[in-house]
Amino acid sequence: MSSEIPPNDRNATETPPTPEEREKPLSKKAAKKEAMKAEKAMKRQQEADAAAAAASAAAETDPLYENYGDALLIDLQSKAISGRKWTEIKLLNDGLKDQQVLIRGRAQTIRAVGKNMAFLVLRRGGYTVQCIVTVAPELVSRQMVKFATGISKESIIDIEGIVTVPQVQIKGASQQVEVQVRKIYCISKAVPNLPINIEDASRSEKEIEDAKKAGELLVSVGQDTRLNNRVLDIRTPANQGIFRIQCQVGNIFRHFLLSEDFVEIHTPKLIAGASEGGSAVFKLDYKGQPACLAQSPQLHKQISICGDFGRVFEIGPVFRAEDSYTHRHLCEFTGLDVEMEIEEHYFQVLDIVDRLFVTMFDSLNEKCQKELDAIGRQYPFKPLKYLSKTLRLTFQEGVQMLKEAGVEVDPMGDLNTESERKLGQLVLEKYNTEFYILHRYPLAVRPFYTMPCYDDPAYSNSFDVFIRGEEIISGAQRVHDPEFLATRAEACGIDLKTISTYIDSFRYGAPPHGGFGVGLERVVMLFCALNNIRKTSLFPRDPLRLAP
Ligand code: ATP
Repeated sequence: MSSEIPPNDRNATETPPTPEEREKPLSKKAAKKEAMKAEKAMKRQQEADAAAAAASAAAETDPLYENYGDALLIDLQSKAISGRKWTEIKLLNDGLKDQQVLIRGRAQTIRAVGKNMAFLVLRRGGYTVQCIVTVAPELVSRQMVKFATGISKESIIDIEGIVTVPQVQIKGASQQVEVQVRKIYCISKAVPNLPINIEDASRSEKEIEDAKKAGELLVSVGQDTRLNNRVLDIRTPANQGIFRIQCQVGNIFRHFLLSEDFVEIHTPKLIAGASEGGSAVFKLDYKGQPACLAQSPQLHKQISICGDFGRVFEIGPVFRAEDSYTHRHLCEFTGLDVEMEIEEHYFQVLDIVDRLFVTMFDSLNEKCQKELDAIGRQYPFKPLKYLSKTLRLTFQEGVQMLKEAGVEVDPMGDLNTESERKLGQLVLEKYNTEFYILHRYPLAVRPFYTMPCYDDPAYSNSFDVFIRGEEIISGAQRVHDPEFLATRAEACGIDLKTISTYIDSFRYGAPPHGGFGVGLERVVMLFCALNNIRKTSLFPRDPLRLAP
């Protein structure tokens, strides 16, 4: 207990400096530190003096000066918990009529009406509210209106005011109430000249076209400009919707699989050698050892199955160094991966795909309507057509459908993007679905670990899944017999030494199993019929882009 410590010993660890020590000159580093400290203290004092001077000057000209202004940094440094309650903009409704509220949001638009009135639209979390600053005796001064009109767009603002309910519909804001401003403070200023205007970045192609026809030239923001200024671009309602949908896709994926007894795993992204033996890997030096970034969790998720987890999934980054300059390839994307034991047939995996995605689509349509509407306003699209029991076609049936439509494809080769799209269109016409499974691919076009069909080794127990004619999933039953796996790897030209740990994992008893990999960005892109995967990657990485 501290009271038992004799007074002289209380600061035993903090021995005061000896006279010699006190005399000792400070080291260069310490002296610099001291100087910096003094300089900072001086600066703080100067700032406080300036604020005090400004306040007294303001008080002379406007007795209401305390009701508006730029917040001081010191007040935002976790100085105190005032007990004030902020109301979320999305919760502002007529139930709060005549009540005082405190809200925080970005200044989306600011419009002055003469010198006595200003309208501000505040935005937060995709919701907006109109706030009115009108001169009123002892409540709102002209200077306050002037301060409000001087706020730069996208600045972060705190407003205290009274909720009112107008008689007419409010067009420029989501909330159908207004806030009569009593106090307004700028919490964080945005620079007055933004590199892109949120309003411009939120426009649909159609709006631009229509305006053009009417002789008006509206700004259209290009993809690169958007991506270079992503911090602003992702503030648009459509982008807010896209990434909230993306979040839900991951969320539903996880919840569904957890409810089906899957275990979430995390496999390494730093891999010795060359991942699955593919060429499209990012090579790196791992403390003197050649290594690469994982091009999929394939091998480790299978090893986890051999390690008795039964059913596993992973949501994680996948790296591909391929030089694809297409609308659907990125160098880094988020993989949704699944692997599971099967008792006798790869259709067990297809059943999971079927129920998982139907659940996902149902849930997105039901719970994310606001987000889907926001996306649709900028990038109009028709809701995805899908069946409650997902259509399964064999590769051969697909080839036949193409043939009948006059499209010649190599029956033992892979389908190219064009024929996949064409098949998607034919399937839609015949079966009224834009989501379907194509299975029993030719073995030659699948990776070495794919299980051949029991009745025809030229085909495999593999599948791809399509949304609107584009691939979102690849999967298969895997070879679980180590000798056969080695034979298949060799036949595919893979150096066995590079995958010996993987093959050895099957030597201690390996259950029959299968799985699949989904690209998160592709699911969102195709569900919302967007034309480029860069729209559904928060900070896309492609062969030409490594920033921001
Ligand atoms: P593709 O034929 O479109 O190049 P893939 O056959 O290489 O795809 P897999 O390696 O089987 O695809 O990957 C599984 C899933 O991961 C794909 O269905 C797709 O959704 C996604 N995916 C694959 N490569 C990319 C990429 N470069 N960028 C974004 N997503 C990808």
